[in-house]
Amino acid sequence: MSSETNMDLNNMEVRHCDTLIINASVIDGSGSAPFAADVAVDGGRIARIATDGSLRSWHALQVIDGSGKVLSPGFIDVHTHDDTNVIRTPSMLPKLSQGVTTVVVGNCGISAAPVSLKAEPPDPMNLLGEAGAFSYPTFASYVEAVNRAQPSINVAALVGHTALRSNQMDRLDRAATESEIAAMCAQLSEALAHGALGLSTGLAYGNAINAPTAEVLALAEPLANAGGIYATHLRSEFADILEAMDEAFRIGKHARVPVVISHLKCAGVENWGRSAEVLEALEQAQRYQPVGCDCYPYTASSSTLDLKQVTDTIDIMVTWSEPHPAMGGKLLAEIAAEWQVDLMEAARRLQPAGAVYHCMQDDDVNRILSHPASVVGSDGLPNDPLPHPRLWGAFPRVLGYYSREQKLFPLTVAIRKMTGLSAERFGLTERGLVREGYWADLVLFDPDTVRDAATFSDPMQPAEGIEAVWVNGALSYLGGTEKAATALRAGRFLARQAAAPAVVA
Ligand SMILES: [Zn+2]
Repeated sequence: MSSETNMDLNNMEVRHCDTLIINASVIDGSGSAPFAADVAVDGGRIARIATDGSLRSWHALQVIDGSGKVLSPGFIDVHTHDDTNVIRTPSMLPKLSQGVTTVVVGNCGISAAPVSLKAEPPDPMNLLGEAGAFSYPTFASYVEAVNRAQPSINVAALVGHTALRSNQMDRLDRAATESEIAAMCAQLSEALAHGALGLSTGLAYGNAINAPTAEVLALAEPLANAGGIYATHLRSEFADILEAMDEAFRIGKHARVPVVISHLKCAGVENWGRSAEVLEALEQAQRYQPVGCDCYPYTASSSTLDLKQVTDTIDIMVTWSEPHPAMGGKLLAEIAAEWQVDLMEAARRLQPAGAVYHCMQDDDVNRILSHPASVVGSDGLPNDPLPHPRLWGAFPRVLGYYSREQKLFPLTVAIRKMTGLSAERFGLTERGLVREGYWADLVLFDPDTVRDAATFSDPMQPAEGIEAVWVNGALSYLGGTEKAATALRAGRFLARQAAAPAVVA
């Protein structure tokens, strides 16, 4: 496919292009070593990559000097909850400012489509926005809305199991009946026919936990023919994590589709230090079926405030509360002390609410992040008034803190986990690599200064060191002192094209 495209481009003897990026150190997303090159972009694609200076004679509408900078594929955020935000806030600055050029939405069992709400969105669909933000009864209507909004970044989408349950069931604290499963399968099939990447579940959440494995097994059946994937927020990330992983592998095997374990972690003090065991289980499964995982580069998680996760063994920061908005930013323990009640009672009074849980250990995060099976996904929560800093910082944090400062892995590996491997894993074709003929999703950054600036107390801060971002060839973000989106918004909906790979290693 790409070699044919390359030949066509070579035969055309192009002497002009839209953009010429010269003198950059190219890290191409494949994991191979950096090389000095000039890159010509034309018509939204990478037209030519030259190491011999031969492009210097080309006529370009815009020439960018990349001296001292790294040019890599735009980052692919494989784990997001940006479903309605790509439409409501199409400049998507939290992601664009990190160098992200594609987001995968619809994770953790929750998606904006296909959804017909009867009341308020059930937990945790409320993370995606208020009831009014859900207006996509079919997947096709969502695709149309994304393309109409023309966000600054590309969007690919999974379909959420909890969203389907909410469409078809009168109550979510039970298993679906056969006819409800059939109705969910029909909706999933419609979505797959319109380019959905696959199915996601969030089996740990109250509104999905009563779905037995058999319900998910049946629902996953349409995936194989469509070349879809199964992504799962496991039924447990705590003591029962191995059993939960087994369930995920069983579903993938039954449906004959690749499995992505979402935000793999060892959560809870009792679970710390188990990452080696968890990764060994993942490697075992990889012998028999395609399995991978994503993770975010922090030791704190975030979601709605879950009564099952209330504990005094870690710090829990409340980020929002509908009945008590003034409590946002305070520790649950502080609130409980103020109210003179125990933690559980305070958490109950705060509902519905959101929280950051400092529930992981450095060693576990390091081990999972550096494992060859893992790719990076932010899991950022764009509708949280005090969002976990991963929303604005995940990708530069991998480059700055984990690669440059902690030396957890070389920059080439960091970039592979955020680009080429991510595209392979999620079946995004002609993305994720700096290759002639591929779409020109590119980021230029300073490897010496790139870093996340977002913190838990001041989370809405754009990263440092991201110099320029191109989406489908359009210069969409300028860093430096500006740190602003340009007027160009060139993102589009990315329909699943290729079957996900048979082997994910
Ligand atoms: Zn999740």
